[in-house]
This record gives sequence, C-alpha cells and structure tokens, in this order.
Amino acid sequence: HKTTHNIKIAPFEATPLDEIPKIAALHRSTFKSQKTKDVQYRLVQLRKLYWGLLDLTDKFVESMKQDLNKSAHESHMMEVGWAIQDCLYTLQHLEKWAADEKPEDVALQYSMLNPRIRKEPLGAVLIIGTYNFPVNLNVCPLIGAIAAGCPAVLKPSEGAPATAVVLKELVEKYLDPEAYTVVNGYVPETTALLNEKWEKIFYTGGVNVAKIISKKAAETLTPVTLELGGKNPAFVSKYADLPLTARRLLWGKTVNAGQICMSANTVHVDREILDDFIRVLDATYKEFFPNGAKASPDFARVVNQQHFDRMKKMLDNTKGKIVMGGETDRDDLFIAPTAVLVDSADDSMVQEESFGPIWSILPYDSLDSALNVAQEIDPTPLSLMTFGRKAENDKVLGTMTSGGASINDAYMHGAIVNMPFGGVGTSGTGAYRGKASFDTFSHRRTVTETPGWMDKLLSVRYMPFSQSELKQ
Ligand code: NAD
Repeated sequence: HKTTHNIKIAPFEATPLDEIPKIAALHRSTFKSQKTKDVQYRLVQLRKLYWGLLDLTDKFVESMKQDLNKSAHESHMMEVGWAIQDCLYTLQHLEKWAADEKPEDVALQYSMLNPRIRKEPLGAVLIIGTYNFPVNLNVCPLIGAIAAGCPAVLKPSEGAPATAVVLKELVEKYLDPEAYTVVNGYVPETTALLNEKWEKIFYTGGVNVAKIISKKAAETLTPVTLELGGKNPAFVSKYADLPLTARRLLWGKTVNAGQICMSANTVHVDREILDDFIRVLDATYKEFFPNGAKASPDFARVVNQQHFDRMKKMLDNTKGKIVMGGETDRDDLFIAPTAVLVDSADDSMVQEESFGPIWSILPYDSLDSALNVAQEIDPTPLSLMTFGRKAENDKVLGTMTSGGASINDAYMHGAIVNMPFGGVGTSGTGAYRGKASFDTFSHRRTVTETPGWMDKLLSVRYMPFSQSELKQ
C-alpha cells in the first residue's frame, strides 16, 4: 500500500531461528528471578508502554497505512488509542486486581483459616497475534501479561509486517529486555516458538492454526487462550428500523474493510422487508461513499493478494446476486463493500468466513427457521447481531449462543475496553480485556493458614477415629 508520511519504517526481518530457544530460556530465568512478580515493577513497565505508545503513535499510524491502508482516524480510534486506554485502565486497577481476594460465604469454622486467593503469574508466556488490528490485538494481550507478572514473547503476524517492525521497536525501546521480546517471522519462527515450553499460549487468528497450536500445547499440557473467528449472523426482523439497521450493519463491514472477526457474514432478513432493506442499504452505501468506495480516503484495503484471491473466489463461486458494491481491483487490493443476495445456506458466500468487506443476505420466512439455519451454518460464532422488537431480540439471544452479541448494532459489545472479549466453542476459549486480561495470565491460588490453637477443634480428623467424640 502507498505511504503518506515521510516516516521511515525498517524492513521486516525474521528473528534468527537459533535465537528463539535463547529468548525462551531468558524469559524462563527472568520469571525465576521473581522480578516480574513485583507489582511496582509491572506498573513501571505499563507506564513505559504507555509512553512508548504515545511516542510511536505516528509511526504506528504510518505502519498500518502501509499494511492495510488503514485511515489515521481508525488507527487512532481503534488501535493506538484503544491500547492506550487499556494501558491506563490497567494502571488504575492493577493493585486492586493483584491483591489477595477474600472469599465470600465461607463457613465460620473455615474463616479462622484466613482463606484467600492469591493471584499468581502463570510464568513465561507466548502471545501470537494476527494482522487485522495489528496494534490492538498484539498490545492488549501483552498488557494482560505484564499486568499479571508474566514475561512474554510477542509474535505479531507477518501479515502486517510494517506494524510488526514498529511493535518490535516499541518493546525493545520501552520495556525490560529480559522479560519482553518481539519475535518476528513466519511459520518456521512460530513453530520454533511452539517447540519451547510456555506457561500459557495466547493465540489470535483462524481455526486451522488454532488446532496446530492446541495440539502442540497439549503435548506439555500448556493452557491456551484462543481468540478465533466464525461465521457471524445478523438477524433483521420486519420491525427493525431499516435506515438505522442498514447504517449500523454497513458500518460493521466498512471499518477496516470488514476485516474484523466480529463482522456479519450472513444477514438473515425477513422476506417481507427484503426489497426495502436492500434499497435502504444501497442508499446508505451511497451516503458513505458519494464518489464510490475506491475513491474514499477512509476505506481500507484487503491485507494481501492471498486474501484478495480467497474472497474473489467466494464471489466467483456464488450463485447469488450482487445487490450492493461488487467492484474489485487486484492491483489495488480493493474490494468494495459487497452484499450478495443468496437463496441457500449452501452458498459459498454463507459457508465461508469472508473476514472482509463481502457478506451475504439470506431471506427468511420465520425467525425460528432463520435461527435453525444460522445454527447449522455456525452453532458457536464469535458474535451475533439482532435488529428487531424486544421479544425477537430475546428469542435470538435465548436460542443461539455466540462469543458476544449486540442488540441493535453491529458489534458495539466488542467496543468496550474493559468488558471480557472472547469466543465460545469453535470461536475461541477464554477471554481477555480489562480484568479478564489479568485473569487470563494469572493463576488463582487458594491459600489457607491453620493456627496452632485450632488443633483441639481439629482433633476430630485424627485417627484413631474410635477416640473421636463424633460417634458414628
Ligand atoms: P494470520 O495469517 O495473521 O495468522 C495468525 C497467526 O498465526 C500469525 O501470527 C501467524 O504467524 C501464525 N501462523 C500462521 N500459520 C501458522 C502455522 N502453520 N503454525 C503456527 N503459527 C502459524 O491470520 P489468520 O489466521 O488468517 O486470521 C484470521 C482469522 O483470525 C479469522 O478467522 C478471524 O476471525 C480471526 N480473528 C479473531 C480475532 C479475535 O479476537 N477473536 C481477531 C482477529 C481475527
């Protein structure tokens, strides 16, 4: 993608493979040294990260322009600004999260044991990120690892190489090099990292790689947090406010050119309002892009040719009809926000996760049938959207599960910096953001302390039981 500023970003270079075991060993010994356990140390690292994000904001904006043609507006709002907010929120709350927790509802006799939950860092961890929000989805898990007291290796996606270079600069310049490292590279480097022992692997990306990671982690019983994707449904009832629904759904597909794990893959629309919905959608498209999406300075590009070709194939294979957008240009990696009206759930547009600006519209005759179809397409999507009356929205939420859900919007549930974010079933395991990020890298260790004077009371537990005052 074209560059806009005079900011220079060094070329992407893979970390030498033979350095990877050394980095892992360094992180394990740093954890053993106990220094990352000190809450003040963690706060210092987070403050440094905060200043680093501020210092490097322009460089990140430029790197994301290069990687995804992401607009500065989106890069500030959803990437660097988001990570800064997460950092500040964590700084404000860390001491409270890290403090011992007193359990509720402990029986009186046990309360004398001073029962408490200590928050222990898991140890040296590995974070593997993806390309679509290359700052947010790498830095936010890193904030969780720092907050919990875990040394961390971050492996950004090679799909966003310029941002991976700036992430390396951020970590090297601002954080403790004994505890935090960025490893850049491709599949061999990630494989070398997976050959090392970690106390947690935090992975964001697709289902197929998640299976490789899970299998590898299972060999050493390493816990994983998996932030994956899905074929997210949206439901539009005949009672929905159509201009509002169209605007919000189109927003969901235009941000980052729809390369969002939460964006709708299939919109299930009541057949009674189908024509109106399509008409309003098209009108909204013209409002967003008066000169067409290609000319818009706000609209991002598909990350690379491989993903362009993948989506083009979905469009070529569809038996549906394009009712909005449709233009593509491989040289410019441009795919217009495109809606395809399909009449079967078997269509290529429905069966694959587009992870881009293309989506399908599938009409329904009853909400029950739409819910059945949606569950067959993907029983556990990452997100779900419902636009209708309260009873309809309640029915959708009650019938179908998903990682998160937005009523009357595309994915605002994923826009709150301190709400847990994660999938269910094939869309992921575990959650993060805010306190959930701290928790995902922590072990909740129950501790009790039995006073000596209690032995009289505890004598009932000692053999021989025939001496016990408690008769059978
Ligand atoms: P990707 O190509 O960036 O790959 C993700 C990571 O896996 C990269 O760091 C890459 O280096 C690594 N990787 C690739 N092949 C590997 C292999 N063979 N062994 C080990 N590591 C390997 O991204 P992707 O997988 O195309 O990501 C897109 C998917 O991610 C979509 O399904 C999307 O829904 C999902 N996603 C989920 C979230 C979330 O937060 N839940 C966010 C963004 C994207």
